[in-house]
Amino acid sequence: MTRVAIIGGGPGGYESALVAAQLGADVTLIERDGPGGACVLTDCVPSKTLIATSTRMAVLSESASLGVRFSGGGDGEVGGPEVDLPLVNKRVKELAWAQSADIEQRVADEGVRIIRGEARLVDPQIVAVGDERIHADVVLVATGATPRVLPGAEPDGERILNWRQLYDLPELPEDLIVVGSGVTGAEFANAYLALGSRVTLVSSRDHVLPNEDEDAARVLEEVFQRRGMNLLARSRAAGVKRVGDSVEVTLTDGRTVSGSHCLMTVGMEPNTRGLGLEEAGVRLDDCGFIQVDKVSRTSAPHVYAAGDCTGVLMLASVAAMQGRIAMWHALGEAVQPLKLGWVAANIFTDPEVATVGVSQAQIDSGEVPARIVKLPLATNPRAKMQGFLDGFVKLFCRPATGIVLGGVIVAPRASELILGLSMAVQQHLTVDQVAHTFAVYPSVSGSITEAARRLMQESAY
Ligand SMILES: Cc1cc2nc3c(=O)[nH]c(=O)nc-3n(C[C@H](O)[C@H](O)[C@H](O)COP(=O)(O)OP(=O)(O)OC[C@H]3O[C@@H](n4cnc5c(N)ncnc54)[C@H](O)[C@@H]3O)c2cc1C
Repeated sequence: MTRVAIIGGGPGGYESALVAAQLGADVTLIERDGPGGACVLTDCVPSKTLIATSTRMAVLSESASLGVRFSGGGDGEVGGPEVDLPLVNKRVKELAWAQSADIEQRVADEGVRIIRGEARLVDPQIVAVGDERIHADVVLVATGATPRVLPGAEPDGERILNWRQLYDLPELPEDLIVVGSGVTGAEFANAYLALGSRVTLVSSRDHVLPNEDEDAARVLEEVFQRRGMNLLARSRAAGVKRVGDSVEVTLTDGRTVSGSHCLMTVGMEPNTRGLGLEEAGVRLDDCGFIQVDKVSRTSAPHVYAAGDCTGVLMLASVAAMQGRIAMWHALGEAVQPLKLGWVAANIFTDPEVATVGVSQAQIDSGEVPARIVKLPLATNPRAKMQGFLDGFVKLFCRPATGIVLGGVIVAPRASELILGLSMAVQQHLTVDQVAHTFAVYPSVSGSITEAARRLMQESAY
């Protein structure tokens, strides 16, 4: 029986444990914090649980135009929704631990041995946990990553925070400064604004979400500003300090921004130090990420790696797929190498931004020839009925064949709408095939088939 040892119990680790166990391997999973890893306990799951509340708040706050009126405010004032942050935080943490328990049960049911502890490699085929030595034919490293700390802006856990410390806040930040306007920064800035904080978003670049679809970023900027967020573009934070009960962010050009709290979202560093990786022959890049190929092999025979510690694409879905691919490969199954062009991703702002396949930047640069159609959500009947007018559906296809290459959906619950496009991209469907697919009337997904019809018409001429 092949012996598999897995270090790290996040999606990269536990999904590979499930595959290895199903293929008949003898599997040991070592996790230091809890099954589900940072994904479930501190990062993805808690943030999306918080966002479930902020989205509900946003819907309630913006429902007046649909004829909803609140009563109950004092002194003749109309009441509105208010957030109970301790309750929200309690729900977030309980849900995370419940999810962790579900994963532990699922993995244990498959016969995986789980060890709670900190592991390191003593050899490519020997893993140490305390005094115990686990001999393995295959080792998978899936140790994840940790919030990057900007020197001069070290979190104190009270007012200068990383996102893992947010759920211990006793009350809603009055005046939150979010440093970093990537996906994590944008999601939290959007969420706390909806929960009722004043929010300043400090971006070192020209606009928010600098690595995402530009049209989508523009929509979000407009929405953020309309809702009262203070956006500081081309503003790089040099340091953050406590001043009594407030915080002061100093920018590299000398300006300062004050608030009650500061959330740092300036990236991640891989958890690869002190693991004995280089001694075991595992090559790291200059930033400490483990170098892997498309079937998750490292430079050391028998050692695979998956997830954030590889820096390939920091998503739970990618971590899980890298882990599964590693096990299929190691245990002799037929395997399709990782294809990043197929990854569907979502930014959980309001509206959400979901993407799959090639990007418009690749098309605009001439790297990928494609035809593009973009339909504003404001023309979609369901969106009109629901009062959601910010957003669009954008579709890219090959010029001659009409094969769908990718798309962007900016809409409420875009994360649930992207699957159709994902299937079209992965299955090489043409715009004709998408156009002939039934969508419910009225529905936002109707804009996907409508976009395909527009591209189909273009092919006809
Ligand atoms: C705020 C936030 C929101 C996110 N939202 C999403 C989202 O909506 N969708 C999405 O797809 N992705 C999301 N992500 C990304 C996602 O969380 C990560 O890509 C995912 O957690 C990576 O999984 P992993 O298995 O590589 O690592 P992790 O989930 O980080 O798990 C690694 C585990 O290994 C453990 N470990 C480390 N070293 C050792 C050791 N020596 N011995 C034993 N155990 C060890 C760690 O303690 C950790 O528990 C989000 C990330 C952040 C920061």
